[in-house]
Amino acid sequence: MTNGNGTIKYTTTCKFCGKAVAEAPALDIPLIGDAGKRAKDLQTIMGKHLHSKHPDQFAQGIAYMDEVLSFLVFAAFHHEDPSVPPRIERIRAEIFAQVRKNTFTDAMLEHLTAGFGLDPQEAADVNQALRAVRNACCEFAEHAPAGVNSPAPSPPLILTA
Ligand SMILES: [Zn+2]
Repeated sequence: MTNGNGTIKYTTTCKFCGKAVAEAPALDIPLIGDAGKRAKDLQTIMGKHLHSKHPDQFAQGIAYMDEVLSFLVFAAFHHEDPSVPPRIERIRAEIFAQVRKNTFTDAMLEHLTAGFGLDPQEAADVNQALRAVRNACCEFAEHAPAGVNSPAPSPPLILTA
């Protein structure tokens, strides 16, 4: 959308309820470094919306933020206490499950293999190998960490306090 001056305005919409919470010209956020005051102001608006309209998701985001901080702090040390590494691994695995961007379904792998023109046994072998690689890289099936939930159907919440 543009205003009368021809400036393009971008709408920020809540993925949970579909409400538009802000509309503003491009924030021009750098990839690295301080995002700037306007980006922080938008973050505050989004956080307030989540806090008031989606308190369960907001609380889940706060708990997730605590876990990420805990992981970063604990992972910076060597621990003789044998109870600590499994906890660090559980948090790492949970973070990985939340932030994993890509994976392949079995159907996608079968579609890839079908393009090779292999005989049925070779296709089955290649499919099995592709599934094994996917499972190892994405931590599925036999590589799934114990006690870690499946990825959330919606994007992870990253909130500031
Ligand atoms: Zn909402």
